[in-house]
Parts: sequence; C-alpha cells; structure tokens
Amino acid sequence: MKKIIIQLFFVALIISGCQSEKTIQSSQYPHYEIELAVDPQKEYIAVKGTLTLNSIPENADSLGFYIDKGVDLKQFTLNKKQTAIIDTASSDNRFLPNARKLYFKFPKDFDRSAPLAIQFAYEGKLSEIPKQAANRIGEKWTELGLYIPWFPFNYEELGSFTYSINVTANQKYTVFGIGNITHENDVTNLSSAIPTNDIVVCLSEDIQVFETEMGNNRLKIFHKNFPDTLLNKMSGEVTQMFNRFNSWFGAIDMDISIIETQRIQGGGYARIGGLVLSGINPAKFDKQIVYYHQFFAHELAHLWWHKASATTWHDWLNESFAEYSSLMSLKETFGQDTFDLYIAHKKKELEGTPPIWELDRNNVEYEIAYQVLYNKGPLLLYELESKIGNNKFCLLCNSMIRNETNTTEDFLKLLAQEVNPETASWFEEMLRTR
Ligand SMILES: [Zn+2]
Repeated sequence: MKKIIIQLFFVALIISGCQSEKTIQSSQYPHYEIELAVDPQKEYIAVKGTLTLNSIPENADSLGFYIDKGVDLKQFTLNKKQTAIIDTASSDNRFLPNARKLYFKFPKDFDRSAPLAIQFAYEGKLSEIPKQAANRIGEKWTELGLYIPWFPFNYEELGSFTYSINVTANQKYTVFGIGNITHENDVTNLSSAIPTNDIVVCLSEDIQVFETEMGNNRLKIFHKNFPDTLLNKMSGEVTQMFNRFNSWFGAIDMDISIIETQRIQGGGYARIGGLVLSGINPAKFDKQIVYYHQFFAHELAHLWWHKASATTWHDWLNESFAEYSSLMSLKETFGQDTFDLYIAHKKKELEGTPPIWELDRNNVEYEIAYQVLYNKGPLLLYELESKIGNNKFCLLCNSMIRNETNTTEDFLKLLAQEVNPETASWFEEMLRTR
C-alpha cells in the first residue's frame, strides 16, 4: 500500500487525444474529527474524537476498527450509547502487525438508515514499532499513520474518508502532514476535504517547507536540508508528471504534499494528497534522474490508481497500473530507448512466476509478488497498449478512474465495452495463464 507526479506533455496530450475529467468529489464520506496530543519523547498519544458515517455497509452486522495495541481504551460508543465491544488483541492484517481489532455488533433494533456517530477516546504509549514499519514515534522524528493505527481505522469496509485533526505537542516541534495545515495558538489543524485513505501526522524539530504553484494546485515539499536547486528540480519533475497523468487519466483537483521522511528504514508510500519518500540523496539526484523520475512517477500515479483492495490479487489494478504509468511518463521525458530498457529489464526473471489471476497476495513470497505485480502486470499492459493504441488505452484508463473500477471482473467488463469483447477475452487469458 504504499500510492503522485511536465513540459512536452501538453503536446503529447493534444496528440494522444486523451480526455480530462474531474473525478474526485467530497460528499457522503465517513468523517473523522479528532483531538490528538502527542508526546514524542514518551512515545505517548492521547486521542479523543468522533467518526461520523452516513450509512452502515450493507449486510454488516458488526463493525471493526484497527487500533494500536499499546493504548488504553477510555471510550468507544455508538451514538453516545455504551455498546459491547470485542477486543481481538491481535491483528489479522499483515500490513498492520501492531494493531488489534475492536468490534461492536449492531443491536437488532438498530436504525441503519440514520447517520451513525462513533465516539472514541484512548491514550497510552504506542506499542513497539518494527524497524521495517513506515511509521515512527520518537524525539527526533514522528510519523503517525495507519501502519501503527493511531486512529480507529477500517478502510476495507468504509473506504475513503475526510478528516479534521487538532494536534497539540510541545512547542519545540513543528507539526505537519498530508492535507491542509493551519495553526492557531498552540494547535495545528490538519484536514482533508478530499476523501483519502490515511491520516499522516508528522512532528520534527527541524523541518523546512518549500511551496510552489502547480497549475491551479499547490505543491509542498517538507524536507530537512534540500538545496534550492534540488527543490526546483524536484518540483519541476513532479509538476510535469502531475499534468501528464491529469491529461492521460482524468484531472484531479488537489494540492500535493511531499514529505521527505527522516526514517532510515521502512520505505516510502503514497497517499491521496501526498507522498512520503525515503532515500532521496541530493548529491545523486541529477545523476540518477531516470531512477528518481520512475520512483516519483510510480508513487504519484497512485493518486489515480488506488481503488482496488491492497490485500487481494486485485491489487494489480493499483500496482501494475501505477508502474506502467511511470513507464509511460519515462517514455515522454527520456524517450523510447529508456522505455525499452525498462521493458527489457522487466522481462527478465519472470520464468516460473505464477499468473496474476488469483495470486495469493498474502501467502506468496514478497519477491514473487513483486515480480508479478511490478513486472508481469506492466508487461501485459504494454501488450494491451500496443494492441489497442495509446488513444484507446488512455480512454480505458479514464473510464476506470471515472467508474472507480476496483475488481478485475469490472476491469474486463469495461475493456469489453470500451474496446471489444475479443480483446477482453484475450487479456483475461493472459491474466490467467501468463
Ligand atoms: Zn505502488
């Protein structure tokens, strides 16, 4: 889960004839209002808030939330009424090893049509975070998010949400994150009116922010000591990719934040509204510009490609599309030869790997899943684009984004509609057998 990124692209857009459409609107989404107090030194958080839902998932007789194992629950109520809670004390999600799951069952006479408010309050020292996790709490660097679920998290059933978080901490810290940021007295408000999939809250004593226009949107880069030359170069690359993907896959209207994480381990990830990136070496940026372009483009493309469940085989709709989007962007910037090199590289070492179809995402080695999702998937998409042409391929992508396609079945239906049934059958066969 881990998924956002400019000159000749306008020319490419006109030539390719890809359409642009507004795809994301905010309404009717679950909404979090939270007061969060953080003490990085003590690795301690205190959380109090409300999650408002306009409806309950169909047929659900219970609702479960991931919360970090370390905190003590003070309140967890349904429309301010005490409700029996089941605490699993452990996680069934391999992305969230530090979580436990809290369930409540809906009473039989529960009015399902009325809006629902879940009130919660808890505090405590966060559980010990594995070194390879992409979240942290500590004196030097704090990065809270879903990997150590500091807010009651249930993306699987509830989907995207909006939020408004008031954060308090010792004044020596700058509080920032993904989303809009405002400061009043000693409180930092982080909010997102655009439905998203995580609430990333960071604290650091020494962080700088670079801000620039990106068309009608703004780009912010939070960093420790990037030189101006690098910031200009990075923002140029990201703006180019952002405009390119807007033109290919449908326009999204959102400000983007890029956070240079100060963690050594745990890697980067993309969220709607921003990227958290690790391992950016200012001294090597120019020399390794192709590598960085592809890395940024993959993560940026997740702004468009994130609808499928990351814990099922349908994740190829996120990862293979994001990866192929990054190759399309590479081709625009660096030319056909660079694109061909990447394609050739992806063809290596595929022998013996299982097909994409029903890939057991949770029980296959990471290396195999990587080969299938990041190498095999993009190669199949390359074959598809070669067969139907760039124009139709972009139209298909546009339709997928517009229809919020999140299963392979729906993708194949769309392919049959947008292109023809024969192509859909051909592609299904490749997904099943290659
Ligand atoms: Zn990805």
